[in-house]
Amino acid sequence: MSTEILLNEFKEVSEHPYKVLSQYKQEGKKVIGVLPYFAPVELVVAAGMVPMGIWGSNNKTIALAKEYCATFYCTIAQLALEMLLDGTMDQLDGIITPTICDTLRPMSQNIRVAMSEKLPCIFLAHPQYRKPAFGLQFTVDQYTHVKKELEKISGTAITDEALREAIKVMNRSRAARRAFVKLASDHCDVITAVKRSAVLRAAWFMEPAVFAEKLEALNAELAQLPVADWKGKKIVTSGIICDNPKLLQIFDDNQIAIAADDVAQESRSFRVDASEEGDPMMALAQQFADQDYEILLYDEHSNQNRRGEFVANLVKKSGAQGLVLFMQQFCDPEEMEYPYLKKALDEAGVPHIKLGVDQQMRDFGQANTAIQAFAEVL
Ligand code: SF4
Repeated sequence: MSTEILLNEFKEVSEHPYKVLSQYKQEGKKVIGVLPYFAPVELVVAAGMVPMGIWGSNNKTIALAKEYCATFYCTIAQLALEMLLDGTMDQLDGIITPTICDTLRPMSQNIRVAMSEKLPCIFLAHPQYRKPAFGLQFTVDQYTHVKKELEKISGTAITDEALREAIKVMNRSRAARRAFVKLASDHCDVITAVKRSAVLRAAWFMEPAVFAEKLEALNAELAQLPVADWKGKKIVTSGIICDNPKLLQIFDDNQIAIAADDVAQESRSFRVDASEEGDPMMALAQQFADQDYEILLYDEHSNQNRRGEFVANLVKKSGAQGLVLFMQQFCDPEEMEYPYLKKALDEAGVPHIKLGVDQQMRDFGQANTAIQAFAEVL
């Protein structure tokens, strides 16, 4: 398949996840909604079901969710609930609700109260201390709970063999995405910021094995193209999510390419693979323990500002000239981490800007001016 056909396919999926959900249901598949962050989607795949990421929406307005949410909840969480309440996600067979931040914790209960009669809600609490043996065991226990609930929905037992196969599928998908991110930078004349985002966003909605196969095909096509003779600027994006095509169009209009990202919905979700050997539940727990440089997770070396240095190095290694931080409004973890990130970027001589964003943004004039001005000083 040609690059253009594959890119169009990813764009379609990225823009119309609800159509994709309907299609899976027509095919008789069960679909499990997966809220951010770090849910073990391998368990969903091993149960023979389709995981579908829920990361809010750039097109909806918060209305029904107001009844359940404090106004200071981020829009990602509020719009996730909105889509459950307004029927958009009615065809789901269940939902996994991780509780990694102070918004998602109460949100998991709001979703349970609002939806439990219609939808099985699977609560998932990750441990704060994820690396010691007791933390690994806690994760295994939590994942075992998720596994049992998924087995009830699917009506089949998740065997170790099926789980090992699912780990292989997800590792393949993660490897393809890591390769794509590099190729997208090398071929930023073909993979614009908008197209790059559509490909990475589609991963949350497509069946993982199908996605991996198509992305490997796209990567093979891209690898054959000459490296772009890029005359514009290159930056690294950072934040929780950066998938609004109107916002990303500003980069494309101003000849700014994305060299790499430190975005939770993008690279931060596919940096770490799970072992394909040994006990597969422990392999998933270890994979969670191995996540690092992450604002949402406890860092026992936090006095060393390892994350800030990691991000500054990412900018330098990627060949970017600066970093654009998309700061979600009302996201405490991001806001609290910012001074440390800024310190590390300043010390490394990496220019950056911070843009406040949320999913109800409809006017991008200010962002346009800020990004243009930033590009001029790079
Ligand atoms: S954007 Fe921030 S506050 Fe909202 S769910 Fe994500 S981590 Fe939590």
